[in-house]
Amino acid sequence: MQVYADNAATTKMSRVAIEAMVPYFENIYGNPSSLHSIGQEAKEALEDARARVAKILGCEPREVYFTSGGSEADNQAIISAARLGQRKGKKHIISTAFEHHAVLHTLKKLEKEGFEITLLDVKNNHNITAQQVQDALRADTCLVTTMYANNEIGSVLPIAEVGAICKAAGVPFHTDAVQAAGHIAIDVKAQNIDMLSLSGHKFHGPKGIGALYCRRGLALTNVIEGGAQERGKRAGTENLAGIMGMVAALEDSIAHLEENTAKVTALRDKLIAGLSKIPHCALNGDAVNRLPGNVSFCFEGIEGESLLLLLDMKGVCASSGSACTSGSLDPSHVLLAIGRVHDVAHGSLRLSICEYNTEEEIDHILTVVPEVVAYLRSISPVWRDLQNGKREYIL
Ligand SMILES: *Cc1c(COP(=O)(O)O)cnc(C)c1O
Repeated sequence: MQVYADNAATTKMSRVAIEAMVPYFENIYGNPSSLHSIGQEAKEALEDARARVAKILGCEPREVYFTSGGSEADNQAIISAARLGQRKGKKHIISTAFEHHAVLHTLKKLEKEGFEITLLDVKNNHNITAQQVQDALRADTCLVTTMYANNEIGSVLPIAEVGAICKAAGVPFHTDAVQAAGHIAIDVKAQNIDMLSLSGHKFHGPKGIGALYCRRGLALTNVIEGGAQERGKRAGTENLAGIMGMVAALEDSIAHLEENTAKVTALRDKLIAGLSKIPHCALNGDAVNRLPGNVSFCFEGIEGESLLLLLDMKGVCASSGSACTSGSLDPSHVLLAIGRVHDVAHGSLRLSICEYNTEEEIDHILTVVPEVVAYLRSISPVWRDLQNGKREYIL
């Protein structure tokens, strides 16, 4: 049995999404900027796709810009708000300590330019409160950017409350909704979101395509210069097949949102209950406000990398922290931000499931994870010291 439980890293494309793309490779392959009929047919499809994304987000079509993915949308949203702030002499940005690197690294770049960045603490409940945002606001704050849901530990942030606070303060609010879009109902107007990033490949759409919603009246700064595509705000010939696949996947996810949420949440809770029985472990992330598909644990006395390799041999594809962090020796910044010490953070496991997973697959995971954890502990010197009382248990 092979079980794919790494949906926070990327998802398998849905049949609907694949089929939605094919005509744009075979027949409607024109450039939407071309004046001839094949180009104009592509242009119509593009604008139709934009309207369909807008309908799902609760905004106007002209507030939707297609990008190459979540990272680019995050970069553009943050850079744009920073440039607007800078012109008014406002150079303070509020974010959180557990953002994706697409956000954190962009903020680092701005910090080097003289912006001041406040990263909200996420140790309490592995989440933020809207009050923390309220308390961090200053007269010179030009942007609040907090993710909608965390990709590693699944915490879902109080977005509507943060949106209301930002609106009252007149500060632009961006949210990286890459893990939320297609998994949680979003309404940018009702939630007072000014800018939002999403990415196709996190909800069974293709990779390399995303969207940025930007409220009318907030001026975007170009990150990619060139032609006048996307109302002059994002140059480059549109990835029309990708856009059509992403929109089909998004609509499909939203059409089945309730049933998928119910199914995935039940599987998630079964996994959490089963894995919690392993001694000396801890659940990462907000236990209540949590993505339906996220299971994240730290197991004391083991190495996440070895755990992943052995799990893979037993047919379970999982992740330890963020896919972007693996390959580096440092433990994930998210686990450190919630207060896990290095030793504990190294023994992390993320299982991110979706509606394609079955009950049998969950049972398989629940059989192999405890076996592998027990085996790794049996050969771990750290575990021996813990057992001998030479070291104190943290978990
Ligand atoms: C995957 C992810 C991104 C990056 O999206 P890409 O489309 O892969 O660039 C950004 N933020 C979060 C929270 C993510 O999970």
